[in-house]
Amino acid sequence: MTKPVVAIVGRPNVGKSTIFNRIVGERVAIVEDIPGVTRDRIYSQGEWLDTEFQVIDTGGIEIGDEPLLVQMRAQAELAIKESDVIIFMVNGREGITHADQEVAKLLFRSKKPIVLAVNKIDNVEMQEQLYEFYSLGMGEPFGISGSHGLGLGDLLDEVKSHFPDQVEEPYDPDTIRIALIGRPNVGKSSLVNAMLGEDRVIVSDIAGTTRDAIDTPFSKDDQDYVVIDTAGMRKRGKVYESTEKYSVLRALKAIERSDVVLVVLNAEEGIIEQDKKIAGYAHEAGKAILIVVNKWDAFQEKDDKSMKNFEQKIRDEFLFLTYAPILFLSALTKQRMQHLLPLVNKVAENHTLRVPTHVLNDMIMDAVVMNPTPTDKGKRLKINYVTQVAVGPPTFVFFVNEPELMHFSYQRFLENRLRATFELEGTPVKIISRKKN
Ligand code: GDP
Ligand code: GDP
Repeated sequence: MTKPVVAIVGRPNVGKSTIFNRIVGERVAIVEDIPGVTRDRIYSQGEWLDTEFQVIDTGGIEIGDEPLLVQMRAQAELAIKESDVIIFMVNGREGITHADQEVAKLLFRSKKPIVLAVNKIDNVEMQEQLYEFYSLGMGEPFGISGSHGLGLGDLLDEVKSHFPDQVEEPYDPDTIRIALIGRPNVGKSSLVNAMLGEDRVIVSDIAGTTRDAIDTPFSKDDQDYVVIDTAGMRKRGKVYESTEKYSVLRALKAIERSDVVLVVLNAEEGIIEQDKKIAGYAHEAGKAILIVVNKWDAFQEKDDKSMKNFEQKIRDEFLFLTYAPILFLSALTKQRMQHLLPLVNKVAENHTLRVPTHVLNDMIMDAVVMNPTPTDKGKRLKINYVTQVAVGPPTFVFFVNEPELMHFSYQRFLENRLRATFELEGTPVKIISRKKN
C-alpha cells in the first residue's frame, strides 16, 4: 500500500512544527538511540484511527534567503506536488495576513483538497476568532491549539475524509523494490544503468502511484525488480527542488516504498552527515540495507589494506548498520557489478525470513543458558515464550514477566544470537517485549 501524504503549509511561527510533532508523536525507534543520527523532522509517519499516513512539514524545507513570499510560494508548490491533502495553517491570534492570502490563492488553484487549520485557539472563548477565516474561501476553518493539543481530532477526521482510495502498489509481491540513496554524483543513475545491463528486460516505464515518481522495472534471471523513484535522481528544475532538504524528502519517500535500500557511497569522497541521516531513516523504517561503495576504480591508494580501512571507516560511521553487507564496486568499469543483484536477492530473502516457533524457542532457551537473563532489584527477567509476528523486517515478540527488565544490552545479546543462528544479514530485526506470565 502507498500511504497517503499530508503536507502542512503556513507562514513561519503559525505552529506547523508543533502540530507536526503532535501528529507524528514519539515514534518507537527500533533501537532507542541511533548514535550520531539527529532526527530531521520534515517527514514522518502519522496515524489516526487506524489509518497510517505520511506527514511533511514544508516549513522544515528552507529555501535559501529568499523573501517570505517566495518561500511561501515554494512551500505551497512543494505541498501541491508531493501530497494528497494539504493542511493550510494560519495563526488565529493574528488574523489573515497578506502572505496567507497569497498562499491561499496558489493552493486554491491546485485542486488538491485543503483543510484550513486555525492554530493558537487555546480556549473556547477564542472560537469567535474563527469566523474571519471563512473569507479565505477554503470552507470551514478548524480551530486548533498545538500547544494544548485541542481540536486535532476533528482536524484529522476532516483530513482523513479526503484521503484517496488506498492504491495498491502496482507490483507483484515477489518483486524486489529497490531504492538508491546517496548524495548527488555518487553514481546512483550509473548504478541503475549498470544493473539494467545490456540484456535488460524493461517491462515499461510505470509512472508510480505517488505523484511524478517514475519507477524502473526490470527482470534478471527470473526475478522481477523495480528501482523506485528513478525520476528523483534526475536533474530537477524548481527552486525548492535544488534544496538539500528536498532531496532528503524524496529519498525518504522512496525508502518508504522499497524493500531493499542501497546506501551508495563514493570511494573518493567518504561519508557525510546526510548519508548517515538517510541511512538511519532506512534502518528505522525496517528496510533491508546494503552499503555500496561505488567508484572503486577511481580510489587512489589501493593496496590490500585500503578496502579493509575503508570498511572500518564505514563501520565506525554507521554504528547502527552492523548487519548491512558492504560491496565495493564500479558502475563505470563494471568491476564486481555481478555481485550486486545476487546480494540484493540475499538481503531481500533475509528480510522476509520466517523462523518456525519451536526452532526459535529452542534457540532462545539455549541462549539464556549461555548468558542468564539480567536481574534488577532482586527480580530476574524471565522469558516465557518467543514468537515471530512479522516479516519485512523479521519481528519477534518476547513474552516476559517484566518488560522493563529487558535491558538494551540483553536485547542486543539476543539479537546477536538470532543473527548467529539464522540468516539475517542485511536486515534489521525488531524485538518487542510484552508482559505475559
Ligand atoms: P512553525 O514555524 O510554523 O513551525 O511554528 P512552531 O511550531 O515553531 O511554533 C511557533 C511558536 O508558536 C512557538 O513558540 C510555539 O510554542 C507557539 N505555538 C504553537 N502552537 C501554539 C498554540 O496552539 N497556541 C499558542 N499560544 N502558541 C503556540
Ligand atoms: P548520481 O547523481 O548519484 O545519479 O550520479 P551519476 O550516476 O550521474 O554519476 C555521477 C558521475 O560519476 C558521472 O560523471 C559518472 O560518469 C561518474 N561515475 C559513476 N559511477 C562511476 C564509477 O564507478 N567510477 C567512476 N570513476 N566514475 C563514476
